[in-house]
Amino acid sequence: MTHILIVEDEERIASFLTKGLTGVGYGVSWAASGAEALALTHAEPPDLVLLDLGLADMDGMAVLRRLRAAECRAPVIILTARTGVTDTVAALEGGADDYVTKPFRFAELLARVRLRLRPAGDPSAGPADDAAPPALAVGSVRLELATRRAFVDGGEVALSAREFALAQTLMRRPGQVFSRSQLLSLVWGYEHDPGSNVVDVYLSYLRKKLGADQIETVRGVGFRWRKP
Ligand code: CA
Repeated sequence: MTHILIVEDEERIASFLTKGLTGVGYGVSWAASGAEALALTHAEPPDLVLLDLGLADMDGMAVLRRLRAAECRAPVIILTARTGVTDTVAALEGGADDYVTKPFRFAELLARVRLRLRPAGDPSAGPADDAAPPALAVGSVRLELATRRAFVDGGEVALSAREFALAQTLMRRPGQVFSRSQLLSLVWGYEHDPGSNVVDVYLSYLRKKLGADQIETVRGVGFRWRKP
């Protein structure tokens, strides 16, 4: 069963989410504080985390950093009452995969959850484990899809969930050019550019981690994974 961890200090919201998510078949656990979230993640690694930014004991961004530092690679969806673009970009660059602004409708949140539990770039696929090829290898880079581990020339490289999804999207079709807005839609799930440079930021992370020459910029068009 797919297991979702809700990190939310408001009981009303947590119980609304728990009811909705268990109702559609997900396993749910609830952490009312940042400390509890870290303990629960350690005890039972979740498949996805819903993370409130405004927690009583710890800033949600600090929780996110500590989850990533503890090798938690599950997709993280931020629940935020903050509407500033700066906060959103900071959350995404801090390793979150998506965000939903409070108040939200359950259907909207569920759509985000389902999108994040699906392999990137494959909107028709079911849950990540079904019929997914075990690995994707192009040139010197190899991605193990089930374990979400990345290797360059056989050496492991740590990628965030988002970096992994971006690499996976490009590597599925080496040589094919993707525009910024295509990547934003495929990897981040946005239909419109929210005015951030998040795609460029993540491409620069990937170039640093996987090798500068793996991803080519096609001026005025977009980006492609270099065909070996
Ligand atoms: Ca809160």
